[in-house]
Amino acid sequence: MKQENAVPVAAMYIDGRFVPAQSGETFESVNPVNGELVALIPFGDERDARSAVDAAAAAFPTWSRLSAAARAKYIHRVADVLERRRGEIASVVTTEEGKPLHEAQGELQLSIDSLRWYAEEARRAYGSWIPDPVPSRRLLTQRQPVGVCGAIIPWNVPCAMIFRKAAPALAAGCTMVLKPAEATSYVSLKVAEVFAEADFPAGVMNFVTGKSSAIGSVFLTDARVRKISFTGSTEVGRLLLRGAADQIKRVSMELGGNAPVIIFDDCDLTATIQAVSALKFLNAGQACIGANRIYVQAGIYDEVSRRLSDHARQVKVGDGSQPGVAMGPLVDMRAVEKVEALVGDAVRKGAVVRAGGSRMQGEAYEKGSFYAPTVLSEVPLAARLHDEEIFGPVAALYSFDTEVQAVEMANNVPYGLSAYIFTENIDRAFRVGERLETGMVGINEIRVGAAEAPFGGVKMSGIGREGGREGLEEYLETKLLAIRVREQI
Ligand code: NAD
Repeated sequence: MKQENAVPVAAMYIDGRFVPAQSGETFESVNPVNGELVALIPFGDERDARSAVDAAAAAFPTWSRLSAAARAKYIHRVADVLERRRGEIASVVTTEEGKPLHEAQGELQLSIDSLRWYAEEARRAYGSWIPDPVPSRRLLTQRQPVGVCGAIIPWNVPCAMIFRKAAPALAAGCTMVLKPAEATSYVSLKVAEVFAEADFPAGVMNFVTGKSSAIGSVFLTDARVRKISFTGSTEVGRLLLRGAADQIKRVSMELGGNAPVIIFDDCDLTATIQAVSALKFLNAGQACIGANRIYVQAGIYDEVSRRLSDHARQVKVGDGSQPGVAMGPLVDMRAVEKVEALVGDAVRKGAVVRAGGSRMQGEAYEKGSFYAPTVLSEVPLAARLHDEEIFGPVAALYSFDTEVQAVEMANNVPYGLSAYIFTENIDRAFRVGERLETGMVGINEIRVGAAEAPFGGVKMSGIGREGGREGLEEYLETKLLAIRVREQI
């Protein structure tokens, strides 16, 4: 990496080498706290994506034929370097994405966990011996890597998202070209340094930054790319699915969420308020599993509204690199404008602002994309933010009377990533949890992710799972071997 006027000039990582874009162009990555330049990032296009696919295709035969145990050694080495550099990379996550340092450190931990867990799990990618109806034949299955994978990730989890995809893919024997979001490309290129430092074999893991549609179109049209793993909005996911249809590529789609939170009147109210507040303001509301629609049983509605608003007013907002800051800025001003528009629409339709409801005021916030932690009550179901993903720090409260009504309201959107129930009644927890149309349900619990557990959605929230055994399956094919055996000895 070169330094120009103290601003780092980052490089892409292709075939084990750090290279600029073939066009020579760069774009700016900025800190959302103050608009300061973080780094200059190569503005790659089709040519760079193509040479990364060349490298990944060339590396595939050797990498895929290594034993799973040998691949595991390389992957553990990446985890070792990441552990050593976790503080430095967490601080780049905070600087480029805006989340508080403790959240960034959580991302680093999930990254390391994913590497270590998949390094070992791929050693258990067993095939099977199938009882055969034909005496002179034996049927065996073998698990094989899918091939070269193209990965596209969003900006809101810029480090862990790399490893949620790369760890299972590499452990399975696939090679990968990864394209980060523009806003957080620098994090990816720092992670590329980790692969280089770990002496990872050239071409197995490649990072290309720049023009998303150009890089995406290489993933879609180059027949050597056998799989696309995408995390991002449903809109872009749909576009990629259409494109992937031409060559019948395998896909994993981790798309938008619109999570319902159902608070029953028999919940532990203090613990619930704390949990819902933490979930809502996590990453300034920019989380796919974030609380989008908060349904509160009528008897405790006013109290929940009051206590959640008190919490919201106490959230310390600021530069996430500073101690005690619980919530940083939104990723950019466009995100602030979108949240403003959604809140404006809800208020025009009758919602009442109980806390926040505007950009943060004051000198400390002038140069950044800050929006205040907000609570809206009496939100009408017709408000846009009921049906759309808010992706901002706005808690929208709705009221319900019965369990049946809550389930109907929760399921009445086309998304189905995560849902949350707060109740002390175990029967109700199962009854409602089993009826919610989502890939994940938190019951008195907001943490639904772990390296060991399958994460993903149903309906328009996606196809496939990341994490757990299911996450490895996404990168494996099953091959049948049918073998003729002569009966006579
Ligand atoms: P986005 O869809 O705008 O962008 C995601 C990625 O796609 C970025 O890298 C972007 O550059 C790239 N991209 C955009 N247009 C493209 C194209 N034409 N071809 C190829 N690539 C293209 O989403 P975002 O704003 O970065 O992220 C927020 C979204 O991600 C939210 O909807 C959120 O719910 C979702 N998300 C989902 C999960 C999950 O696990 N389900 C996790 C995190 C975020």
